[in-house]
Amino acid sequence: MISRRASKPVRIGDLTIGGDSPIVVQSMTKTDTRDVMSTTRQIRELAEYGCELVRVAVRDKEAAEAINAIKRGISIPLVADIHFDYRLALLALEAGCDGLRLNPGNIGNPEQVAKIVRAAKERAVPIRIGVNAGSLPESVDTQMPVARRMVAAALEQVKLLESLDFDLIKVSLKAFDVPTTVEAYQNIAAEIPYPLHLGITEAGTPRTGVIRSTAGIAILLYQGIGDTIRVSLTAPPREEVIAGYEILKSLNLRQRGPILVSCPTCGRAEVDIVSLAEAVGRELARIDKPIRVAVMGCAVNGPGEAKDADLGVACGKGNAVLFKKGKKIATIPEKDIVRALIAEVASL
Ligand code: SF4
Repeated sequence: MISRRASKPVRIGDLTIGGDSPIVVQSMTKTDTRDVMSTTRQIRELAEYGCELVRVAVRDKEAAEAINAIKRGISIPLVADIHFDYRLALLALEAGCDGLRLNPGNIGNPEQVAKIVRAAKERAVPIRIGVNAGSLPESVDTQMPVARRMVAAALEQVKLLESLDFDLIKVSLKAFDVPTTVEAYQNIAAEIPYPLHLGITEAGTPRTGVIRSTAGIAILLYQGIGDTIRVSLTAPPREEVIAGYEILKSLNLRQRGPILVSCPTCGRAEVDIVSLAEAVGRELARIDKPIRVAVMGCAVNGPGEAKDADLGVACGKGNAVLFKKGKKIATIPEKDIVRALIAEVASL
């Protein structure tokens, strides 16, 4: 049983992060934010996959102003990601962003941060202090180990925001190196009451990135640390959301969507289980029902697992036995397995 660290709940749009709220799955768009139509389309797709909070890169005035039109076409809260130029944060706030992400390493000037904080406070918009190991501020002692420098950089900003009577704060401390990231989060978790956004930065392509992200995020979640997660991948952002939910489901922290059980296949299988499981997985990815679906390769170990699931198939030569809630309901030809399985999902 995981006992979550008690964090201060922070509202962002109509979402609460922290406290005893479910751990939020978020992602970031990969479109040019100035392209309102593409960005809106991508956010809508992310929402279909269960993304609850989205971040967009704001690299210039046009991108900041585009937030207004994007917000009108989406239903989940939007965070503006700001680097270097505090004026873009002010414009993003005016355009109606629900949250800001600032990197203390490259905004720098406390006066400018204070201007952002005052404008965010007026609108009750939270700020994520997003520390990145690759861009730490010069004010932090370079002799310290990286994890400690990350924590020091975050604490410096937390104190600055608190001194301005601002407490709508979230914090992230991302590095590519998993032990460094874990150590940084563990240390800051004991120091501040604010919600923590977990992630491993520049984690890579799906094959390696999901593993690297899971290694870091799951260690922390299992220790009760973390209120929202983003799995950063060099891939379409929906893959980040799918991976995020899989991590949470694996730890029994969220129940969204189906759990797919599939056998690894072996010499006993007489259908292409790899293609079949992938096709079923693709169809299930958009479905929100918390059900268990099994795709098994043969009559040796297949029926047991298929019966244990809400829906399951145990394949044979050219066909499969379909089980629903432990009962055999049909024998279906191989070419119809995916269609028949997904049709039955609707009846559960
Ligand atoms: Fe092999 Fe059958 Fe087990 Fe799949 S269920 S791995 S095909 S024995």
